[in-house]
Amino acid sequence: MIAALKHDFRSDTVTRPSSAMRAAMAAAEVGDDVFGDDPTVKQLETRLAEMLGKQAALFVPSGTQSNLIGLMAHCGRGDEYIVGQQAHCYRWEGGGAAVLGSIQPQPLDNLPDGTLALEQIEAAVKPDDPHFARTRLLALENTIGGKVLPTDYVEAATALARRHGLACHLDGARVFNAAVALGVPVERLARPFDTVSVCLSKGLGAPIGSVLVGSAELIAKGRRLRKMVGGGLRQVGILAAAGLYALDHHVERLADDHANAKVLAQGLARFPGVSVVTPDTNIVFVDVAPQYASAFAEHLARHGIGVTSAYGATRQRWVTHLDVDRQAVDTALSVAAEFFTRHA
Ligand SMILES: *Cc1c(COP(=O)(O)O)cnc(C)c1O
Repeated sequence: MIAALKHDFRSDTVTRPSSAMRAAMAAAEVGDDVFGDDPTVKQLETRLAEMLGKQAALFVPSGTQSNLIGLMAHCGRGDEYIVGQQAHCYRWEGGGAAVLGSIQPQPLDNLPDGTLALEQIEAAVKPDDPHFARTRLLALENTIGGKVLPTDYVEAATALARRHGLACHLDGARVFNAAVALGVPVERLARPFDTVSVCLSKGLGAPIGSVLVGSAELIAKGRRLRKMVGGGLRQVGILAAAGLYALDHHVERLADDHANAKVLAQGLARFPGVSVVTPDTNIVFVDVAPQYASAFAEHLARHGIGVTSAYGATRQRWVTHLDVDRQAVDTALSVAAEFFTRHA
């Protein structure tokens, strides 16, 4: 079924390294990164620390590990982080912060725009009292469900956190999408946070890898934690080279993914029984009326169009990325049109 997909909109994680990226990987100078000897990893870490305006960075195998290390760098056993119900580092990481870090999550409902209400954040901060876990950290996510957090909101929420003595972590798996969508340097979006986790393996198109950035002190702590969770890798410059290639060639082009997502959203919204949230970036959520939902999903699959479906296929997620171009979007829309001319 996977091999039969002609156009894969399930996620921006499905991108495969281009031949130019593979050539950069093959040519990478490498060393033992656990010894601190890999020049390509060092180059990637320095580059991302600079781009995000932080002192230091740490290359890790996955975004999940990057968030875990970030949370554990801020919080110890019996500490607590405030986080959204929909946040990846609460909902989608196997409970790792609790299981491996003994860190208690304090989840709050995300509002429709992805934010957490300031009053709710404030109310969730616990007083210094032995009944309570120690509230240590606010964790936000940008983009969240493809939505860009309003910059003034982020400033208000992190300022509030700081007034209560909390540190701030950003799950910036797709923070480059946010920066490109807003037309601001990514440093601006990273500035209010102590640590930021960035994925190279989403829209940036690298096969593997994430980077955690922050102060020299937090990243030194993170390096110890990375070893502890088994994320210290050896000649991993081969992967860092893919990340450097992505930073050189795949950042500005995220605007193409956003434009393609808009075309896709507008096209899908024209069909009966289909409603679409206008995307800020590269993720399109589509609601399909129950009477069409499963047949539509099957029709797409039969024609090699991959999407992610949930709730009996009434909710679809389409993600644009560098392996689905404008032509793939047009093809997907004509496959969809075929279905609706027959069924509506
Ligand atoms: C994908 C993703 C992660 C985790 O990345 P993995 O590399 O899949 O572990 C974390 N946060 C967000 C918002 C993500 O989209």
